[in-house]
Amino acid sequence: MYPENRYLQRIEQKANEILRKYHIRKPPVPVKDIIVKMGLNVRSYDLSDDVSGILVIENDKGSIGFNPKNSKTRQRFTLAHELGHFLFHHQSKSEIFIDKDFIVKFRSEKNYTAHEIKQEQDANMFAAALLMPKEFLQAELARKDYNDLAEADFISALAKVFDVSIQAMTYRIANASLFRP
Ligand SMILES: [Zn+2]
Repeated sequence: MYPENRYLQRIEQKANEILRKYHIRKPPVPVKDIIVKMGLNVRSYDLSDDVSGILVIENDKGSIGFNPKNSKTRQRFTLAHELGHFLFHHQSKSEIFIDKDFIVKFRSEKNYTAHEIKQEQDANMFAAALLMPKEFLQAELARKDYNDLAEADFISALAKVFDVSIQAMTYRIANASLFRP
């Protein structure tokens, strides 16, 4: 297995561990509750429009802020994304992460380092794994017959069940290797 794949698998495993620990067995995943149970603070923040979320770490204690002007599904993704930074990227006792349009492709106005891009990708992978666990998707597909739906309807029906954006579900379905053993 490629090191890259192993790394992604670790991210998926971490998400699954958390779901097991808090006895989450079906969608939608209550991401806010999970974060609070994990001992972090969560609150809405008066952030500028292009900022979707922040993670502030003080003395190893994490506080996540989300932008209340964003859609609910976006807020959920942001919370999961910031939790990903907390779990995988937090290295010193006090740190801050600020997230702009991270779901959308990186904008050219700022030159991100390879390290920053990797961190954003990790956090997105983690958020997708937490909000759209592969097992839950497989169970949902087995439970309900989606065969008659056109692809766009199929994705939007699933997005509703998981309380995520259509965009997030589209990426997840494309990347999750759901149909491979
Ligand atoms: Zn981020």
